[in-house]
Amino acid sequence: MKSQSNREIFLQKPKESLGFFPTPLQYMKRLSAELGYEIYFKRDDLTGANVYGGNKIRKLEYLLGDARARGCDTVITYGATQSNHVMETISAARKCGMTPVVYLVCIVEPDQKNKKANFLLDSLFDAEIHLVESRGESMPEATKRARTRAAQRIQELEEQGHRCYEIPTGGATGIGSAGYMDGFAELVEQMETLGKRMDYLFVSTGTGGTLAGLTAGKALLKLDTKLVGIQVSPQNTKAYKEKVEGLAKEALAWVGKETIKVKESDFECDDRFYGAGYEVPCEEANAAICYLAQKEGILTDPVYTGKGFYGMLEYLRNQWIPRGSTVVFLHTGGTTALFAEKEITGELVSL
Ligand SMILES: *Cc1c(COP(=O)(O)O)cnc(C)c1O
Repeated sequence: MKSQSNREIFLQKPKESLGFFPTPLQYMKRLSAELGYEIYFKRDDLTGANVYGGNKIRKLEYLLGDARARGCDTVITYGATQSNHVMETISAARKCGMTPVVYLVCIVEPDQKNKKANFLLDSLFDAEIHLVESRGESMPEATKRARTRAAQRIQELEEQGHRCYEIPTGGATGIGSAGYMDGFAELVEQMETLGKRMDYLFVSTGTGGTLAGLTAGKALLKLDTKLVGIQVSPQNTKAYKEKVEGLAKEALAWVGKETIKVKESDFECDDRFYGAGYEVPCEEANAAICYLAQKEGILTDPVYTGKGFYGMLEYLRNQWIPRGSTVVFLHTGGTTALFAEKEITGELVSL
């Protein structure tokens, strides 16, 4: 199998073992029958390392591997107050015996007296948490301020003899994205075992690192699977596509495959399904969360996978892609958000 031989390039890379792989690939019997497609879910919501997992684990295996190889003992990262990436980075750092230091941008103000969801878990893991107030800016703008504050803290820590490893929001670097080049190969291997070709792969896209890794994986394996990223936040389309393409190239270069070409037309970004914005609940996405839960018993979340699945459902219900196609939804996790603040969940169930 070509997917298998290509996975060997990852074996030489420093890596921390954090999750449970391969994750299951499940056929959605009822959904497929109702919608007229062959629908599979790649269950990366079950990557581990703690009960929740999600897409950040594959990235963190290589990122923390790199941190260890560089002799770092402290990990710094950024995200929104209920960030999955931050919570998973903290838990991974603990598992690796490193100290987590995080900067949380308060798009939704956390209630310190009634901590919930990932914000509660961040405290349970006892990370050094810095709250960065949001002044009505976008996430990237507020994160810029957070990075300035972190730079001072990093200098302080290094003066005390620590070595810090900085991970950007979402773990979106070439190394982090390489986790999904590997993840794509794992998925293709599973599809090959079933004797299926994957026509479409849908994924919720935020910082773009996951989509970039999938794009790099597709180029590496020379497949023509259509990759559709459903955006969970507003972005400048041109800059966003360039970012994803750039990360895909970096990921390929990191494994010594810089000669493999990627281009913008290797993936699609669809910005029609995030509603009013990042972390803002969307009625249609909440309806999709309930539909999937009641149809297949699978949970998705209001910030990422609910919106991603809502987008995919629109493609299938409106037959924007040929009926009968084999369609995979990469379930990237995030279900802790079901237990977050009302500002994030919206009305999930009626009274
Ligand atoms: C971070 C995240 C994503 C988006 O991944 P990116 O690599 O940032 O695009 C999707 N789903 C969930 C649940 C996430 O936590």
